[in-house]
Amino acid sequence: MQKISGNALTVLDTLNKAGFEAYLVGGGVRDLLLGQEPKDFDISTSASPDQIRELFRNCRLIGRRFRLAHILFGREVIEVATFRAHHEQGEGGETEEESGRILRDNVFGTVEDDAIRRDFTINALYYNAQDRTVIDYCGAMQDMQSKTLRMIGESAVRCAEDPVRALRAARFSAKLGFQVDQATREAMAEKGRLLREIPPARLFEEVLKLFHSGHACASFDRLREFDLLQYLFPAADRALKAGDDKFETFVSRALANTDERILSGKPVTPAFLYAVMLWPKTRELAMQYVAEEPPVPAVLMAADEALAEQLQYTSLPKRFSIPTREIWAMQPRLECYIGKRALRLLSGPRFRAGYDFLCLRAGVSPELKERADWWTDIQQTHPHEVVRPEKKRTRTRKPRRTRNNQENTGA
Ligand code: ATP
Ligand code: MG
Repeated sequence: MQKISGNALTVLDTLNKAGFEAYLVGGGVRDLLLGQEPKDFDISTSASPDQIRELFRNCRLIGRRFRLAHILFGREVIEVATFRAHHEQGEGGETEEESGRILRDNVFGTVEDDAIRRDFTINALYYNAQDRTVIDYCGAMQDMQSKTLRMIGESAVRCAEDPVRALRAARFSAKLGFQVDQATREAMAEKGRLLREIPPARLFEEVLKLFHSGHACASFDRLREFDLLQYLFPAADRALKAGDDKFETFVSRALANTDERILSGKPVTPAFLYAVMLWPKTRELAMQYVAEEPPVPAVLMAADEALAEQLQYTSLPKRFSIPTREIWAMQPRLECYIGKRALRLLSGPRFRAGYDFLCLRAGVSPELKERADWWTDIQQTHPHEVVRPEKKRTRTRKPRRTRNNQENTGA
């Protein structure tokens, strides 16, 4: 436990000295015990949000559904939450839908209440910094040893309360290499369809956690194994179920690239991920439209249709969907441009992502290999043409690095 953030220890100490119970909890404890680097440190306490605010000057209260305190230390944020209870023990602050999905929960409770409302046993370990012990209310230590991901309580009920837990199960089993216990698996199979009721914006957040945390390949395999891909990327799911082997290789390579990029600290963007996942549908539609339209408008029509379907499942902010369309629209150009037009394409801001996409396609479609090699060569013979978006802009206005510019390089 030497790797605990000093700031988290300071927060625990301040809460304890003020007479409150306070523990490090969740992914931070889990990852430390497994010898992994925690992403963040969360604290759970008996202090109410107002009491927390009184103790810390650098504190912000956030959240409507449940009020949390963020204690800010420069770039590090320590999240502090008051012990929460499940509705049966509480004062009835939760509302449920017919399906059993919980829409609101804001009832305070004891540390035990707080433990059993968490999702998986291994996420419900509490570290007490005063005596340096780990408290285990749910049998998590045994599950850690046998590498088992087990939902706390009645799996079917817990999965219905919040179907996103099914996606979290896929993600944690991928990230940690844990097997999912039988009852949890059955609940995921039975309740997975409730994911259709989850707001697309929340599913977009889950997509990022699944595919941009360095475990994209393993997450993708788990999603397929548990038949959950259909709720995130229906077009990709259909293509795979129809036996599209080329797409299977294409997507596996793209995700392996994503994992490598993250491992080596390179940027990744959802624009490229979505371009990959939606490609079977966009390509198929574009092939139909090209009978009546020129290639680029045909791809753009296909793009709009594919994105419209996708947005009913997971959202994709405009700052990503615009580059996604551009990656696709560049494909027919990359397939045929030569001479001056080719050089102009080369100096466009989105060239790199479009070219990476072409290379991926060439990996499964040998007829594109020659074109991909041609673009590889021309970048070497014309290095000055490659991606210098500021060059043109400086004439009219000050160069500005937009978010998209920085995120532009492919997955
Ligand atoms: P990581 O941050 O590595 O993805 P984590 O376990 O910290 O994993 P978070 O989403 O940060 O996951 O959530 C922190 C903790 O809050 C979890 O460990 C779990 O105890 C609890 N939790 C989060 N989401 C849910 C949920 N949907 N249902 C029940 N408990 C949850
Ligand atoms: Mg976390």
